[in-house]
Amino acid sequence: MSRTVEKSLAAIIAVAGFAAGALYWPEDNPAPSDPAPLPAPEDPVEPEEPAEPEAPAEPEAPAEPEEPTEPEAPAEPEEPAEPEEPEEPAEPEEPAEPAEPAEPTDHAGDVFTWLPAGDLVEDSGTGQTVAVNYVPDMRFPMEIARAFANSQVYGAGGYMGPAGGQCADSNYSYAWRDNFCETRGYGTPMCPAGTGHQGQDIRPATCTDAVHWAVAADSGTITSIGSYSVRLMSDDGVRYTYLHLDKSALEVEVGDTVSKGDRIGLVSNEFGGTATTIHLHFEIRMAVDTGGGAIENTHVPPYMALVESYQRLIDGTDS
Ligand SMILES: [Zn+2]
Repeated sequence: MSRTVEKSLAAIIAVAGFAAGALYWPEDNPAPSDPAPLPAPEDPVEPEEPAEPEAPAEPEAPAEPEEPTEPEAPAEPEEPAEPEEPEEPAEPEEPAEPAEPAEPTDHAGDVFTWLPAGDLVEDSGTGQTVAVNYVPDMRFPMEIARAFANSQVYGAGGYMGPAGGQCADSNYSYAWRDNFCETRGYGTPMCPAGTGHQGQDIRPATCTDAVHWAVAADSGTITSIGSYSVRLMSDDGVRYTYLHLDKSALEVEVGDTVSKGDRIGLVSNEFGGTATTIHLHFEIRMAVDTGGGAIENTHVPPYMALVESYQRLIDGTDS
């Protein structure tokens, strides 16, 4: 046999042998021919594919939704801000002018005006320099408005006043004028001169004798009645003095207790002999610091208490 033939035979035998091996090789011996490593490497590759999910980077495109910035256009609805124009109703603030009724008018429709505390008639004395309401809850000492606080001596009809009788229109009109420190010889430590008038003069609504009621400025007790004076001590220790009431028509006696607003007597011109003008001379006496820290029981300027209680009377706050 030639070598070629030998080789061919060997090949044939080998093939046959392999075939036989494939047929009879025991299953439980897959050993080398089943090199498991093969499938393994291939698998891991596939998982890499999930890398593709990286594509979700594309979702970044949702950035585009930012375009919805256009919705900002709704800002346009802000234009309704124009309704701000209704602010023009601010003009209704003008009705604030009706607030001017704060300038109280009396029942005759006159606006109540008053000169500053301490502003006396020229050459009638030197007024106090402070404007204090010493009795903030005082009741105005006349039953009804109108009333006119001003000077008797330096007003028309007064012995130091201009021509014209006490019933002159100038005496029965506003503005009010303080006369607490008007020149007199009475000791009045609250006045710059140390002396003064001690009270405020007030004319009633009309120049008519004994028809206008003076009333209790506070609740208290009637402590004395003189020839032309009535004194009321309040429950708080403030003494009120009423001068020139009609002696024949007093509503009170010494020892009587009265309530704020009770009638005391009629405004007249009693002066223990020679008549004065028709008016109420009204005083407030109380313990007060007269300067230097000393507390003294003395007359205090009643002007601001009168102004403020009169305002309450004519605006209806006090009745
Ligand atoms: Zn007087």
